Amino acid sequence: MLEIKNLHVQLEEEDKQILKGVNLTVGAGEVHAIMGPNGSGKSTLSYVLSGKDGYEVTDGSATLDGADILDMDPEERAAAGLFLAFQYPVEIPGVGNMTFLRTAVNSQRKARGEEEMSAGDFLKFVREKAKSLKIDAEMLKRPVNVGFSGGEKKRNEILQMAMLEPKMCILDETDSGLDVDAMKLVSEGVNALRSEGRSFLVITHYQRLLDHIKPDVVHIMADGRIIKTGGPELALEVENNGYADLLAEVA
Ligand code: ADP
Ligand code: MG
Ligand code: MG
Repeated sequence: MLEIKNLHVQLEEEDKQILKGVNLTVGAGEVHAIMGPNGSGKSTLSYVLSGKDGYEVTDGSATLDGADILDMDPEERAAAGLFLAFQYPVEIPGVGNMTFLRTAVNSQRKARGEEEMSAGDFLKFVREKAKSLKIDAEMLKRPVNVGFSGGEKKRNEILQMAMLEPKMCILDETDSGLDVDAMKLVSEGVNALRSEGRSFLVITHYQRLLDHIKPDVVHIMADGRIIKTGGPELALEVENNGYADLLAEVA
């Protein structure tokens, strides 16, 4: 599914190396978590995978089902089945949520060479997805994220994810200041969307999130590298002992 090899990334603006050889393989249907101290490069990794400007890949590769994603523009990444949870957190006054979702779904279909969904089919599709995630249809009528509470934005993000039916979902929850309720929403959404053909990479600062989303694999990132990989017990170890012991072990 997702294979990252020896990924080196630096800032475009200044000569600063941030990722210093990241290796990571996420198999089909697996849920991986990345934890690590602040400033270790977790968000940079998700930005680079999303194709955000300002970062330069100086070495290494990232492929999704064998296809080089670093070479794709954001639409192509979405068409290939990659979803990044922070892709659409912006407020868009004047654009109804329903219109927005339909545009996202249809541009993905277009990039795949598929026909657009008719208005009727789309309505059925979005209602089904909203219902299965227990999302109030009222939210579909409002402008995208405008005046949404933190929880509503999270719900909307999960709905976007459900609508695009991605193969690989990357969630960076590190800096979003998740409260307990939002954390529950995210984890319920992820758990509802878990399936054999869909993988998740959940980036988080908080062990608590992993109480709700049971990861198959946990990685610890520090100073631009993955310094340790293990099972869910690794997240508990970090919660109990912090990162100091792990960092000392590696040093
Ligand atoms: P994390 O998500 O693990 O907290 P980040 O990926 O946000 O880490 O940041 C990794 C390092 O790269 C930090 O030292 C951060 O200050 C630096 N960094 C990331 N993006 C930029 C940027 N656009 N300009 C300057 N420094 C940056
Ligand atoms: Mg940070
Ligand atoms: Mg971050």
